Amino acid sequence: MLEEQIRKLDVERIDVYHFHGIGWEVFENNIVKPGGPLEAARKAQEEGLFTYLSFSFHDAPESLVKLADTGEFTSVTCQYNLLDRANEPGMARAQERGMGVVVMGPVGGGRLGAPSAEIQALLPGGSKSSPELALRFVLSNPNVSCAISGMGSKQMVEENCATASREEALTEGERAAIVAQLEEKKKLADLYCTGCGYCMPCPHGVDIPANFEHMNAYRLYGLKEHAAHRYERLVKEEKAAEFCQECGECEPKCPQKIPIIEQLKETHKALGKQ
Ligand code: SF4
Ligand code: SF4
Repeated sequence: MLEEQIRKLDVERIDVYHFHGIGWEVFENNIVKPGGPLEAARKAQEEGLFTYLSFSFHDAPESLVKLADTGEFTSVTCQYNLLDRANEPGMARAQERGMGVVVMGPVGGGRLGAPSAEIQALLPGGSKSSPELALRFVLSNPNVSCAISGMGSKQMVEENCATASREEALTEGERAAIVAQLEEKKKLADLYCTGCGYCMPCPHGVDIPANFEHMNAYRLYGLKEHAAHRYERLVKEEKAAEFCQECGECEPKCPQKIPIIEQLKETHKALGKQ
């Protein structure tokens, strides 16, 4: 397969070759087994088919620390953005181990692409746009080597280039102020719903934590367009708040004592088509 890829790319060797989307379990049970993928990769590397061995990552954040500690990889490509900072410890460990850290989804997979007054206000003095701030935030993390952002127009390319060309993405003080506000928002989000799932399953198919996750994206980060779009998807899957029959089965199971029925109604009112 690798030889075919080299032929199609019309190169002599690939610079950085990834195991795609591996987690700790796959690494431990499959990648390192004798005669397995890691051995084959090292052989291909010795033969000069690629230079650096890397992996992309979608597992639980603690697995990133463990994978970095194996010392097998030159870099990692992982998820990181203003709304999802769970990989920060793993990224720090990777950097300590001399690895490169490539961030995918720096604009939250498009979620931060839409204008949001709440996001722009995270930066003391305000920011030009939400995607600009999202990118600056990622690039200001000293453990980030590179951010790969999907771009759908020439204008986006120009804006991203201008952002990445800044001498300093954010000052230390600006970054600290943003992190402090994000921590506050996270506390508020947990007051609403931590996403623990203890209230599930709902006998009528409502995905309670998913509904509240979208509601939080709206009320805490002003991401109305994104939240309404995701809610619409839940409607199609018959998992949206509007399918709640008010049976009351879920409420006693919630450790946060969230008035689930009431909040589902609010969610539908805010995000659903009336
Ligand atoms: S109250 Fe609504 S969300 Fe809760 S279990 Fe009953 S139908 Fe499901
Ligand atoms: S039990 Fe409560 S906090 Fe946990 S997912 Fe359900 S509503 Fe959210």
